[in-house]
Amino acid sequence: MLRLIVLSVIPLVLLTLFSTGTQCSTLVLINGKIVTMDRNNPWAEAVAINGEKIIKVGNDEDIKSLISDKTKIIDLKGKLVIPGFNDAHLHFVSGGLSLIRVDLQGCKAQEEVKSRIRAKIDELPEGAWIIGRGWDHTLFNKGVWPGKSMLDEIAPNNPVFLRRVDGHSVWVNSLVLEAADITKETADPSGGEIFKDAHTGEPTGILTENAIDLVDNVIPEPSKEKLTLAVKKALEEARKYGVTSIQDNSNLNVIDVCKELLEKGELTVRVFEWLPFEWIKEMGKLDDIRNKFSKRSNMLRLGLLKGFADGSMGSSTAYFFEPYSVDSTDYGIPLYTQEELNELVVKADKAGYQMGIHAIGDKANHMVLNAYEQAIKLNGKRDSRHRIEHAQALRPQDLKRFSNLDVIASMQPTHCTDDMRWAEDLIGHERCAGAYTWRSFLDAEAKLAFGTDWPVEPLNPMLGLYSAVTRQSIEEGLPVGGWFPEQKLTVEETVRAYTLGSAYAEFQDDIKGSIESGKLADIVVLSDDVFTISPKKILNTKVIMTILGGKIIYEER
Ligand SMILES: [Zn+2]
Repeated sequence: MLRLIVLSVIPLVLLTLFSTGTQCSTLVLINGKIVTMDRNNPWAEAVAINGEKIIKVGNDEDIKSLISDKTKIIDLKGKLVIPGFNDAHLHFVSGGLSLIRVDLQGCKAQEEVKSRIRAKIDELPEGAWIIGRGWDHTLFNKGVWPGKSMLDEIAPNNPVFLRRVDGHSVWVNSLVLEAADITKETADPSGGEIFKDAHTGEPTGILTENAIDLVDNVIPEPSKEKLTLAVKKALEEARKYGVTSIQDNSNLNVIDVCKELLEKGELTVRVFEWLPFEWIKEMGKLDDIRNKFSKRSNMLRLGLLKGFADGSMGSSTAYFFEPYSVDSTDYGIPLYTQEELNELVVKADKAGYQMGIHAIGDKANHMVLNAYEQAIKLNGKRDSRHRIEHAQALRPQDLKRFSNLDVIASMQPTHCTDDMRWAEDLIGHERCAGAYTWRSFLDAEAKLAFGTDWPVEPLNPMLGLYSAVTRQSIEEGLPVGGWFPEQKLTVEETVRAYTLGSAYAEFQDDIKGSIESGKLADIVVLSDDVFTISPKKILNTKVIMTILGGKIIYEER
């Protein structure tokens, strides 16, 4: 009897709590098309959030009962809502630095170069290095090489270092030449030239090819202020593109910057910061830094060990079973022998670390899979979620090993549509059929996580979405039908890899990556329904609102 009474009282108590507002929402989104990435409840009209978490996902009627006078209500007017993007592989600080450097592309007059540099000097602290890129003297100087005097005149107190549009020469001022100790006596290094005045013999301020190294080495590491500025710029970019989580391979100084921003409430992206794989050789160093982060935070975490098994395809250093098509003696360059790699991977796995090892060529991928397999053999199987970063070219027999060994393929769709311009020339048609094989990975039941490698590719996830569903170039929409179109993904599969897939790849799929009750309210509202518009229009789709942990951090104006 007593038990019966208790049971019937509970729902009454809950009802009272709801009606008095205790369990009410702080924010609700209604009247939308919500694609949740939750397989049990794939789409909804409305979502209720309390604090940083989602408390209900359903239709408008369900959600309206959770509205109180303290609730902020957003009428989506039918707009598309998806989970916040989680970029599974990027370089956040380099990305931010690229945004604060001077962009000289398209300058058609010396005056334009001057005014862009002046604007940058005003922005930066006194004496700071001005670093820029993109000038082309054939556009603004009647083809005559520019010189240090113009830069000395506008920037007498700031070293100025400006890379030409093609990257093969730089234009610097006198302060840079002094810092690098380049005088009229300095001889040209082999494979490079220091331009000198025909009359005085003084360096003019133009350096080409290997001579660039002479000044590259004296550019200081960015100061704490500059690093903070770069991170803030990068955060702004992330908010704009609806990126609510990043998995970052930056210089570890960034951790202190992020900690400070977090304390001030200015960190607007969840950061999973990586550590160098090589540090496994000095376990003490790793443990020290890991102990600093024992506290469980959903904003700033530290963990994955990032290593490299080979180089890149573009520079012919990715490591293959067969030689490059252009040179029958060149197989690329492995960075470890199989034995060395096994030893380090087994050690890191035993210590409980997750690993993400860069592998581009089919042999490098094969070697990393071997090492992960060895770790399971010796240490036993656990939920390790080891990853291969890029996983670009694979032999068919290695595909299934990703799912058998539970290895995540961490890939960047825009690498494919960028590299396809020259990939067939380098490795031939047949091997390209086994490259960037997103569809084959899913067919083999392997897990995908998507990202950009920013600033190698732009941060905007819409470009990745477009690339994955078309396999066509962003500029011209070519080739017709797509490059190896059998590997295309659907919009749903791509968004999943970019949200829940990435969350899984950082052990966070239990708290984010889909729009589900109990998960963090990381959500984006898009200008267009990417599930129904033509792929070409995905490129122009914008994020109109970004929500992180229940807070609106970006609204398009
Ligand atoms: Zn990278």
